[in-house]
Amino acid sequence: MTGDAQAWNFACTLFNRTTPTLIATLPCAPRALLSALVEAHVVAVRPYNNAYVLCPECHQQHGLVVDLGVADRRAIGCDCPDCGIVTVTPDYRLTVEIDIKWLVAQLRLALDVSSDEAVVELAEGIWRIGTVLRQPVVLGRSVRQLQGRPALLAQLHDGAGRPVIVITPQPPLPLQAEPFDDRVVWLPLQRSFVFDGKRLSCIEPAVLRRPRGGDDATTDPRPVHGPFSEDFRWVYRPHGAVLLSPAQAAVMEVLWSFKGVPQRGELIMARAGLKGSKPAVVFKVKRENKDKAQYEGPKQVYAALVVVNARDGTYALRWEEDWGETPPLLRPLMP
Ligand SMILES: [Zn+2]
Repeated sequence: MTGDAQAWNFACTLFNRTTPTLIATLPCAPRALLSALVEAHVVAVRPYNNAYVLCPECHQQHGLVVDLGVADRRAIGCDCPDCGIVTVTPDYRLTVEIDIKWLVAQLRLALDVSSDEAVVELAEGIWRIGTVLRQPVVLGRSVRQLQGRPALLAQLHDGAGRPVIVITPQPPLPLQAEPFDDRVVWLPLQRSFVFDGKRLSCIEPAVLRRPRGGDDATTDPRPVHGPFSEDFRWVYRPHGAVLLSPAQAAVMEVLWSFKGVPQRGELIMARAGLKGSKPAVVFKVKRENKDKAQYEGPKQVYAALVVVNARDGTYALRWEEDWGETPPLLRPLMP
C-alpha cells in the first residue's frame, strides 16, 4: 500500500470515531502519517483540555492534570494513581480528528455535486452532502449508525425509486452481507475514493450511473439496441449504466448501424455529424475532468466496445451474437 493509501485508510478510521483521538495513544505507524494529513488539511490537531490525562509513564491509568509550579506556567504533570506525578509535555495532550469540512468539500468535488446545493446535517454524524444525478448523497460516520436509522434513509427515497448513495468508512471487520438493501448504493470511503496526497477522487463511477426513469437524456431508460438505450445516450454495463454525451451517443449510433463491420473513421464522424476522422476524440477526457465519473465512464465504454484498427483507420463495435436481431437504424451504405 502506498503512503497516501495508508494515510487515507487512517483518516477513514478517525472519521469512524465520534470523539477526537489523543495522539499519544496512537501506535507509531499511524502517528507517522499525521504530518502529511495535517499538511493536506485532512485532519485537524487541537489541544485537549480535559482535567484528566493518560499517564505518559504507564499508559494504563488516567491521572488528574496538575500544575507543576510557578516558574514555567505551561509545565503540567499527570497525577497517576500508580506512578505518582509524571511530567506531561504540551504535545502529549494533542488530539487529532478528521476535518469534516475538508471531507465534505472533497467528496462533493469528487462526485461533481453542484456547489449550489447546501450540506445538511440530518442527525449527529450523518450529513446529506448533495445529489448526484438526482440521487441524494448521504455521508455517515459508520454503517451501523445508518443501519440503525432506517426511517432516515426511507425519507430520502423519493417516489421515482432512485437509490440513495451512502458513503461511510468500511467497517473494521468483514461484512457478512451487503449492509443495505438494493435501494442504497453504498460507497465505502476506503474503497471508492482515492487520496493522492492532496485531494480525493471517486473510483467507482459505474454505480453512480444507474438508470432511472424520467430523465431528459433518454425517453426510455432500458437497453433497446444491444447494450444501448433507444436514443443511445445510455449504455448498460455489468456494473451499472453510463450516460453518454450527445456526440458520443451519435458515434455509437453510427457504429451500431454497421453491426460490427469496420468502417473508416472519417465516414463514422461525418455520419454522426461531427468533424474529424477519429471517433476517440469525443471520448477523450480533458485534464480538468480526469477521474470524474461522468467523463471516465464513457471513455471506458469506448475502450470496451469499440475495436480500432489503427493501421487501416477503421472502427467497429465489438459485435455480440445476440445483438443481431435489431434492424439497422440508418439506410445501407451507398455503393
Ligand atoms: Zn502511570
